[in-house]
Amino acid sequence: MKRSFASVVSGLAVLITLLVTLGFSTTPAKATTTYQIGTDVTFPPFEFANKQNKYVGIDMDLMRAIAKDQGFKVNIKPVGFNAAVQAVQSGQLDGVIAGMSITKEREATFDFSKPYFTSGVVMAVQPKGSVTKLSQLRGKKVAVKTGTSGADYAKSIQKKYGFKIVTFDDSNNMYEDVMTGNSAACFEDSPVMQYGIKQGTKLKIVTKPAESGSYGFAVQKGKNQKLLKLFNKGLADLKANGTYDKITQKYLGTTKSSDSASDRSIIGLLKQNKSALISGFEETLWLTIVAIFFATLFGVLVGLMGVVPSKFMNGVSTTLIYVFRGLPLLVLALFIYTGIPSLTGQKIPAFVAGIITLMFNEGAYIAAFVKGGINAVDSGQMEAARSLGLPFGKAMRRIILPQGIRIMIPSFINQFIITLKDTSILSIIGILELTQTGKIIIARNLEGFKVWSIIAVIYLVIITLLTWLSNWVQRRTRL
Ligand code: GLN
Repeated sequence: MKRSFASVVSGLAVLITLLVTLGFSTTPAKATTTYQIGTDVTFPPFEFANKQNKYVGIDMDLMRAIAKDQGFKVNIKPVGFNAAVQAVQSGQLDGVIAGMSITKEREATFDFSKPYFTSGVVMAVQPKGSVTKLSQLRGKKVAVKTGTSGADYAKSIQKKYGFKIVTFDDSNNMYEDVMTGNSAACFEDSPVMQYGIKQGTKLKIVTKPAESGSYGFAVQKGKNQKLLKLFNKGLADLKANGTYDKITQKYLGTTKSSDSASDRSIIGLLKQNKSALISGFEETLWLTIVAIFFATLFGVLVGLMGVVPSKFMNGVSTTLIYVFRGLPLLVLALFIYTGIPSLTGQKIPAFVAGIITLMFNEGAYIAAFVKGGINAVDSGQMEAARSLGLPFGKAMRRIILPQGIRIMIPSFINQFIITLKDTSILSIIGILELTQTGKIIIARNLEGFKVWSIIAVIYLVIITLLTWLSNWVQRRTRL
């Protein structure tokens, strides 16, 4: 009996150590020369994925040219504006370049580079709609992007004009809301809105730029000062040698992006985005497999802790299940990815943060049905085994578990499928799995219906494969 306690506890300890070392050992070494830079999913002409799904745009080209000029490397993470800002704030990423306006408020938590572009906020509406003035917004909805200066501007004039605010995580969803007529207007940075309209976004700018200001590259206040200096030096070099002008000209010239003329059928979209979709598919599959593995280990251990004859262990098991089953997955992911590092100062790679999140959340559900499955075996079985002289551990292994596992199998299969679907939530921390890949592709071509249909079918294919595999395992274990 003692042995079973010890093995459960040591199993749990090994599992957590394994994950923690996995998480922390992948970060150092590289960090000295390669900086992790967060950016928006889409904010053309400053950052957007081109047809080859490479991140390009004024910010991206500037960042790469500066890195080259100053001899460091960058790893670009298109996590979305708000996510990038928060990841830098918590120390998960080294810097953010995302058409980020230098504001008084932000200067309290960020150190900004020298300004590199001037911009202001404009209001955009449907080209043929009736709203053309701020004063016509009363009682209507206005779309903004989370955490942006456009959102702050909207808030600052909301009382005066009496509109409702709806928030979106990226610019495209915000535009889409206006184009479909849900919102009457949106607030966006003027160079971005102008560029978008030139590229075919069906909106019209109706106000002069407000809140004029400048964009800057940002790092966490007091941190990464070396990177900031390198950026400033590089920027000065690029301005002096004409590269800065070349880059801005390249994106602000009159050329229309060729993507808008490309094949927009489902087959065409599949062909154009083949490599991005494949790598998103692989990432989703990989996340699912690793998460299922750790969640099963965690769940079985915690479930067993719930049935061993120890009040303490039972209590720990119940608490773990209560906490991790009670927390929404999204909150847990953000807590692990941005919450913990901002407290400890230690980075956790997004993939590992994602796995830890799924391990705890899915594991808690597994623990609950493992416990339930064992408890469902008639208590007379244990009594009989014990009265025949079998020790607790052996009785558990030989008599109870084989019956319990049979009860648990359908729940396992169910949980594996849920785990697969839940990986999509991890797009919030910028993991480039299928859902995030979809967001990025749509950000470029605005083909929401077709791209989400493709992504949905891919999920269904993986779910079918997983179900087949589970059924096959189930058939085999019945023997
Ligand atoms: N310039 C705006 C800001 O800093 C918007 C940036 C963005 O959406 N990427 O808030």
